[in-house]
Amino acid sequence: MAGLATAGALSRSGWRVTLLERAERVAAPPTALVLWPNGRRALEALDPAGGWSSIASPLPDGGVRRPDGQWLVTPRGRTGSGPAPAAARLEDLYDVLIAGLGDNVQMRTGFAVTTIRTGPDRRPEVGDGHTMIEADLVVAADGIDSHVRRQLAPESAAVSSGFADWQAVVPAHRLSSGHTTGGETLGAGYRFVSIPLGPGRGVYWVATAAGAPRPESPATQLTLLRRWFAGWPDPVGELLAATTPADLVPHEVRELRPLPRTFDFPSGPGGVVLLGDAAHAMPHHLGQGACLAFEDAATLAALTSDAPPGPGLVAALETYSRLRRPRTTSVVRQTRRMSAVVQARGRLALRARDAALNHMRPRMMAPTPDWSPPN
Ligand SMILES: Cc1cc2nc3c(=O)[nH]c(=O)nc-3n(C[C@H](O)[C@H](O)[C@H](O)COP(=O)(O)OP(=O)(O)OC[C@H]3O[C@@H](n4cnc5c(N)ncnc54)[C@H](O)[C@@H]3O)c2cc1C
Repeated sequence: MAGLATAGALSRSGWRVTLLERAERVAAPPTALVLWPNGRRALEALDPAGGWSSIASPLPDGGVRRPDGQWLVTPRGRTGSGPAPAAARLEDLYDVLIAGLGDNVQMRTGFAVTTIRTGPDRRPEVGDGHTMIEADLVVAADGIDSHVRRQLAPESAAVSSGFADWQAVVPAHRLSSGHTTGGETLGAGYRFVSIPLGPGRGVYWVATAAGAPRPESPATQLTLLRRWFAGWPDPVGELLAATTPADLVPHEVRELRPLPRTFDFPSGPGGVVLLGDAAHAMPHHLGQGACLAFEDAATLAALTSDAPPGPGLVAALETYSRLRRPRTTSVVRQTRRMSAVVQARGRLALRARDAALNHMRPRMMAPTPDWSPPN
């Protein structure tokens, strides 16, 4: 996602871009995500003609309940300005991003970057063990296990966050009623979030459980999920009953600890920048990873649009890191607070969680409402 968004934006501002992808084809996972106001603003800045509203359906605040049905936080009307939070299927998001690549982007799939070379007097180069490619700017958007980051910022490592998660999109025709609200239910070490994707588009859900990912087959994992979440308030039971093992996307929740010291590495007339999960992967509890990646991309595109290779580009990349590192560090901090909330167990911890949640949630639901791209 981050790579597609950045390639499209850079090409629109006049760069000739080579997009390298390890897989044989660029394909979206069969899941969805929430675009918070900051993410929507970033996408609008990246591609004003993207038609983002057509793929995103407004996200109602369904509040937070306990597994016994009691409200922890009642649904509230939307406050704040700017675009409303919305949910979109990744397939639709990828389609718009791919459509926005334009003619200045050459895509090379089946190219797994394993080597990066930088130096004060040379343009940066990346290679896959057979071919080296030289450029003025290398954008490393290769996800949490980024090879580039591991070589340039070895102080930052991908570690387990202590959770497993499961996602699925249940098609509308398998569901009995019109699901329009969605919502969140929070148990001791368990969380279930459901998000309607708009009329006829089905419902997206994410289940999170403290502990390691399960080694069992998808069918057994689905049985376990139905057991763990049995008796939880509607629509949890119906969604899990309508999910098939083939719909299930299991995942180990991981994060970068610590974040890289810097997101930019100068090299000759330009350099390398880290972007998206490669720079700041975090648990999904606030649903901000992709939104921040789009912010990164919009920031980089704005800063480099008028920065020719040489001191101007080197300075622009330094500014990118100076803006993006503190910004993402602060969201990571809030995400870790939410990790503690989800992980709370034991009577006292749960009582403290319930009391705190009412105050924390509005801020957590919109940790970055006022972000806008640099001029
Ligand atoms: C359960 C869950 C729910 C989430 N919900 C939300 C949400 O609601 N809102 C939100 O904003 N975010 C959400 N996120 C976070 C979001 O999914 C990630 O932050 C986002 O996918 C990161 O995108 P990326 O492009 O940086 O990395 P990735 O999606 O990991 O993409 C990396 C790309 O690089 C390629 N690649 C990797 N290594 C190499 C290599 N060596 N050479 C060439 N190519 C390579 C990969 O094949 C891949 O295509 C959620 C995450 C999870 C797990």
